[in-house]
Amino acid sequence: MRGWAGGRRPKVAVLHLGGTIGMSLSAVGWVPDPAVLTRFLESTPLLSHPDVPDFEVIRQEPLLDSSNSRPADWVQLATNIVAYSPRFDAFVVLHGTDTMAYTASALSFLLEGLDKPVILTGAQLSLEHVLSDGRDHLLTALVLAGMAQVPEVSILFGDVLLRGNRAQKVSNDEFMAFESGNLAPLAYVGARIKVNSHLVRKAGPGPVRLRPLIRSPEVVALRLFPGITAQLMARMLAEPTEGVVLATYGTGNFPSNDQALLAVLAQAIERGVVVVNISQCHRGRVEQSTYGTGTALDRIGVISGADMTAEAALTKLYCLLGQGLDRVTVKRLMTQDLAGEMTPERVAPGTPVVMSLPAVTD
Ligand code: ASP
Repeated sequence: MRGWAGGRRPKVAVLHLGGTIGMSLSAVGWVPDPAVLTRFLESTPLLSHPDVPDFEVIRQEPLLDSSNSRPADWVQLATNIVAYSPRFDAFVVLHGTDTMAYTASALSFLLEGLDKPVILTGAQLSLEHVLSDGRDHLLTALVLAGMAQVPEVSILFGDVLLRGNRAQKVSNDEFMAFESGNLAPLAYVGARIKVNSHLVRKAGPGPVRLRPLIRSPEVVALRLFPGITAQLMARMLAEPTEGVVLATYGTGNFPSNDQALLAVLAQAIERGVVVVNISQCHRGRVEQSTYGTGTALDRIGVISGADMTAEAALTKLYCLLGQGLDRVTVKRLMTQDLAGEMTPERVAPGTPVVMSLPAVTD
């Protein structure tokens, strides 16, 4: 037996929120069913192996398909983590995969001073499916939570542990369903667990506290597409919209030859709407100064979201506006790394230096 640090078996809270991992097949398709996890717990003696931490399952009522979750559910989950924190060394959150990246991102912004692991996991196949990936995920998440080497909000899926606010769901059928295109995994799970400790954030001072939201801001996610009209965009940016996550092309490019479209965006910004530019690409960062189609956005006051995911940018904007901060502060904080969600410098340490091609001479 490996033995736990300090000789004490850690205590983990398993917060069951829903998702395929605990679903059964009904007449209308797969739906959450509390009995699925109960049956698994009762029929799996391995869960009481001494290398598995002590754990207690706390079920949310009702369990949700995560496509039904809303910001109020992020806040409820964060509130519960704060409330249970004195009793537990770590948390495992069983959650649907569809919006897991949003919940993980939101938690990273709502929890202040976090000093213990919060690992979200789920499955592509229910625990009752013969090929379920959920059995390994639950066991591995428990062990990782007990090891307490990654005291931040993360997602365990397949054989990787990813920073929660860097992860995106990239497949709806492969077992490697999540990736974090702009940050290497925090840990790899194999015959040994390899932690990329240089990437792991320092534990907060604890005890964890909730950054309270005082209102529900109107935030919009707008993905550009060729042919988007000024009329359509104007509707999306009209009152009561307060914040926009604009998913642009490539390095942050926009159809700048459409003056009407650009004018709609500029007017919204003048009205006080916070517009954040993120890329539709899973990897790479927004560099608004690269192309003329990007500098146009720079000129009218669109904020670069650097290498944030759409999920991180949206939840960050929601949480900052929801805290009642003024627009100037929100804009400033959107460009700063608050919870490991973005790489602030253009060239991160260790990134290969890109050489410019020599000028062509004749
Ligand atoms: N629709 C499910 C959910 O997000 C999908 C899953 O869990 O994999 O709850």
